[in-house]
Amino acid sequence: MTQANLPEYDYDVVIIGGGPAGYTAGIYAARAALKTMLIEGQGTVSQITITDMIENYPGIPDGIGGFELMQLFKKQALKFGLEILPKDVSSIKKSSSEKAVWEVKAGDKIIKTLGIIAATGAMWRSLDVPGESEFAGKGVSYCATCDGPFYRNRDVIVVGGGDTAIQEALFLTHFARKVFVIHRRDRLRAAGMLQERAFAEKKIEFVWNAAVEEISGADFVTGVKVKNVQTGSLSEISADGIFIFVGRLPYTEIFKGLVEMDKTGFIITDENMRTNAAGLFAAGDCRAKLFRQVVTAAGDGANAVHSVELYIDEVKGRTY
Ligand code: NAP
Repeated sequence: MTQANLPEYDYDVVIIGGGPAGYTAGIYAARAALKTMLIEGQGTVSQITITDMIENYPGIPDGIGGFELMQLFKKQALKFGLEILPKDVSSIKKSSSEKAVWEVKAGDKIIKTLGIIAATGAMWRSLDVPGESEFAGKGVSYCATCDGPFYRNRDVIVVGGGDTAIQEALFLTHFARKVFVIHRRDRLRAAGMLQERAFAEKKIEFVWNAAVEEISGADFVTGVKVKNVQTGSLSEISADGIFIFVGRLPYTEIFKGLVEMDKTGFIITDENMRTNAAGLFAAGDCRAKLFRQVVTAAGDGANAVHSVELYIDEVKGRTY
């Protein structure tokens, strides 16, 4: 395909998602003079906007609230002329006439684009117990990297028995005096090597066959009520913080059937954010990866735009 017989399309790239990955992609794409639209969903909660304090985003030594940080991302993207559409995407398909063109339906608009960056994010699974939402940011956390350093010489609880729970419990031992791992069964799901390290760690105490019934506290978390799922007996564990790692779910429903995903629904990419679908890229927490942070999402967004540029050059048949 050459410049002369390009298919009809409205945008070079449509970015779906208004979190750190999406807005970083927006900044890079708009600044690279790609015709770009960012579609910001209205029906999903973004992890960053409900994150109280981000202390580890480089260049902001005093820390910043998640919502405030997103406002700065947005301001920077608007400065470069990014177009933003505040709508939920309802469907995505390849154009019936032009193989290189995607059609994205958002509200009553159908937007034709050469490239798409999926940056729809993910949300941690919650325990759904009393006190969990009340104490979110006040002792209830879903990120040890973010909040672990606040618990130096204090007692914390980790809930879950998977790789994330055990890896983060081990990480928390760098700060905490004691780490209780509460798991609903009598054996861990985590990989054997992680299990061995956790069993050898003196600061970790396992609470087996236990379900958290309630998170209690006053201004801040003071502990949990747990029920032994075999005997039904109730007990209390005192702690200053509780880290919940019972899985995470991606917002990738709209991409189902278009692209390869792992068993949980995270989009599989290569290191350059390319998926197995030509013209569809993924960045940030919605893609399958190990480490989900604002800074890694932002890095993904920048990488995705670089791959989109290479892809568009290929589609347009440029040879410089
Ligand atoms: P996961 O493997 O789905 O484990 C979730 C854990 O939470 C399980 O132990 C589960 O218990 C427990 N759980 C689920 N719902 C619960 C509830 N309502 N109440 C109490 N406990 C509940 O999730 P993950 O640990 O976040 O890992 C996700 C994926 O990332 C996995 O494929 C994992 O291998 C991968 N990962 C890999 C690494 C690494 O390689 N270093 C690190 C992190 C994550 P049951 O065991 O009883 O089901």
